[in-house]
Amino acid sequence: MKILALNCGSSSVKYQLYDTSANKLLAKGGLERIGFVGTFINHQTTHQKHRLECDCSNHKDAVNMVFKFLTDEEFGVIKELSEIDAVGHRIVHGGELFSKSVLIDDNVIKGIDSLSSLAPLHNPPNLQGILAMKSLLPEVAQVAVFDTAFHQTMPETAYMYAIPLKWYEKYGVRKYGFHGTSHLYVTRRAAAMLKKDIKDTNFISLHIGNGVSVTACKGGKSIDTSMGFTPLDGAIMGTRCGSIDPAVPLFMIDKEGFSSEEVNTILNKRSGVLAVTGRYTDRRDIARVASEGDKFCQLAQNMEAYKLKKLIGEYYAILGRLDGIIFTAGVGENSADARKLVCDGLEHFGILLDDEKNNNTSGETIISKDSSPVKIFMIPTNEEIVIIEDVSAILNGTYDNEDFTYSFEK
Ligand code: ADP
Repeated sequence: MKILALNCGSSSVKYQLYDTSANKLLAKGGLERIGFVGTFINHQTTHQKHRLECDCSNHKDAVNMVFKFLTDEEFGVIKELSEIDAVGHRIVHGGELFSKSVLIDDNVIKGIDSLSSLAPLHNPPNLQGILAMKSLLPEVAQVAVFDTAFHQTMPETAYMYAIPLKWYEKYGVRKYGFHGTSHLYVTRRAAAMLKKDIKDTNFISLHIGNGVSVTACKGGKSIDTSMGFTPLDGAIMGTRCGSIDPAVPLFMIDKEGFSSEEVNTILNKRSGVLAVTGRYTDRRDIARVASEGDKFCQLAQNMEAYKLKKLIGEYYAILGRLDGIIFTAGVGENSADARKLVCDGLEHFGILLDDEKNNNTSGETIISKDSSPVKIFMIPTNEEIVIIEDVSAILNGTYDNEDFTYSFEK
């Protein structure tokens, strides 16, 4: 079966074409700057890479461009579009409506649309991708895979906020959590690496990229996570502030006369390590300049690690027993220094980092000392494979079986 995974952002479309029978990624790529001057596509197959400028004013043009590349005589990997058996869409917000991946029909489309007020920057472009695909390949099955779905298992105690109940009832204000497919993938891989049934495991997963979230997973289910009503909450991120006193934006509105839109932009796009360093979001730049003695880059690194340590402590408290902590995403996978900064001082929790293993990871690696009661993992995330396998299982009718497992759990 050939499955196309699509991730449509406001001005970008990322894609992967996967052949499940051969267990092989055929092609992947992305279009950027859709609707602006200078749209370009990066397209990669097993043996070639291309970057080309193209014209794309909307998502339908972009999807058409993806099709053109997939079927191109020179760059293509399939002869006809009819070879695509199904499409899996990454959808950011599933609210309380979607706690699992689903086959898309008109009701699902309405549901995703109805959640647009909760994710105004994400759900509308996600939906445009679905509609574009529907008009271009009307016969092909489409599946929605939600970033929030994995966290729908959180108990009320974790997801309710102590604010007027009406805000929840009328507008759905509660904690949802994000990066769900990533937390699902790495916790299942960690269970497989320990040769344990996922149902018998307790993990804390740290997805540290531009966006950062930490999740407590008990028996393979999310019981709490650091992002909240929106992806702004929790850990300190590249440009997002994470948890702050909620009175701060109100105080600043009073002092500077900001509009809610301005405050939203400042907290989402001009805060986080960017605000602390005054210049950088890329943690490689921050590490380099910190090592040259820059006080603010050092402060940003320490603040980021300090908050992550506190989240590990919170989640250890509610999990009771901890089998492992897992580092993933851009920083979690690539920065031994960032992992060390987080783990330093957590020895009293039985979290014992092995410096040599931490400095010499290649692919999935256990980086704790052999004697460490809590294992530490570095696991490269793979959200696309979750999408591909959900699509394939939904089409095969195995997704809702109680004993459904992913191939990567072995
Ligand atoms: P996104 O949230 O955009 O998907 P990624 O998971 O791709 O983000 O992570 C992006 C972040 O990963 C950037 O801040 C980048 O600096 C960081 N990163 C990538 N490689 C390294 C590295 N070797 N050392 C430190 N940080 C790194």
